[in-house]
Amino acid sequence: MDAQLERVYEEALKRNPTQPEFQQAVREVMESLEPLLLERKDYQEAAILERIIEPERQIMFRVAWQDDNNKVRVNRGYRIQFNSTLGPYKGGLRFHPSVTLSIIKFLGFEQIFKNALTGQGIGGGKGGSDFDPHGKSDNEVMRFCQAFMNELSSHIGADIDVPAGDIGVGAREIGYMFGQYKRLARRNEAGVLTGKGVGWGGSLGRTEATGYGLVMFANEMLAEVGDSLEGKTAIVSGSGNVATYAIEKLLAQGAKPVSISDSSGAVYDPDGIDVALLKEVKEVRRGRVSEYAEARPNAVYHAGGKVWGIDADIALPCATQNEVDANDVRAMEMGGIRLIAEGANMPLTPGAIEVAQDSGIIYAPGKAANAGGVATSALEMQQNAALQSWSFDDVMARLEAIMHNIHKTSLDTAEELGQPGNYMVGANAAGFMKVADAMLQQGVI
Ligand code: GLU
Repeated sequence: MDAQLERVYEEALKRNPTQPEFQQAVREVMESLEPLLLERKDYQEAAILERIIEPERQIMFRVAWQDDNNKVRVNRGYRIQFNSTLGPYKGGLRFHPSVTLSIIKFLGFEQIFKNALTGQGIGGGKGGSDFDPHGKSDNEVMRFCQAFMNELSSHIGADIDVPAGDIGVGAREIGYMFGQYKRLARRNEAGVLTGKGVGWGGSLGRTEATGYGLVMFANEMLAEVGDSLEGKTAIVSGSGNVATYAIEKLLAQGAKPVSISDSSGAVYDPDGIDVALLKEVKEVRRGRVSEYAEARPNAVYHAGGKVWGIDADIALPCATQNEVDANDVRAMEMGGIRLIAEGANMPLTPGAIEVAQDSGIIYAPGKAANAGGVATSALEMQQNAALQSWSFDDVMARLEAIMHNIHKTSLDTAEELGQPGNYMVGANAAGFMKVADAMLQQGVI
């Protein structure tokens, strides 16, 4: 990178010394924006980059709760209110033992640009806890969510900061947190959280939105090169909300998804994933993908394995950050993969992105490809503000239009910057400029 940018990056390293994921996310954005950042003297004079990488506010708090044996447990809670230039802070909550300040900051940072790309009025934020919902009873999860909300409630609001789900936070957790917020605030403020139940302010289609939107985006990428999803074989990693609904949509488009995975291992199902069984195992039983494999005649389970060596046409990493390294992309290349679209946030390591781009695989970052979830959260906020509830088809038509626009904006911006076809440069630059231009207008804050 240019010496001037390198200095800004060094400063960020000094200020955030033990945050590798956050450093990685900042570096990726800075590298892909280098020509733009050097050209825009107005951004330099206003220290836009320096301001954008510094969160507006970082909240960390103790969450104490009692398990079913009355033992007192302690977790740490986070909410990073990263950037409110375009609207109230918006982004999910992640409950997972791997959660650290670094993880929440990288997610919050990415969220700024993702949210800007959706074209809706939402700023960027993220939160969560190192709490592990796995193996906990419903009552334990409820007590944890209530304790978490006791602190979080004073920092959020429909016009301030609107959390939603992420890994480990689904309909059950949002329900418990909304109930507790309502009790503390003593009013029904529907727009304070998204991903709510459909009967009490939730939007139809929000559950499906991230996975469906991802597949809509992949379809746009293929259409660009005169192709379509029809008849394609797809490898998908993960088995949570994003993976499940990506698989459902792939099947609806005539493609054949053949894999799923979790933190224990990977499943290859040559007959195509049975999405009803997947939902039964994961959503109803809260089980592991090995149980899915046991119930399918030809499926193979690899304990500790990954899905990337399986022969296929497209790859949708939908599990978690840094799940795909350079060797995985080489394996994909050997297996015939021509397209990678990120369903998770930052699933490809910097080395993996480099190999993908050098090998001619078309690659789209999560900021663009998985933005359908948060975009539909913003549609939920609109419905809450207007006391309306739109039909499933109405929400899907809007989601389709949003994904189409994100795809077009990313490609157009890449073209303008002299890097045609580079979705990473296009998405980063389009999101960044939207926020940066608004920051210039709002003065030094
Ligand atoms: N956690 C999701 C994301 O990474 C959705 C956030 C939201 O709906 O606010 O974009």
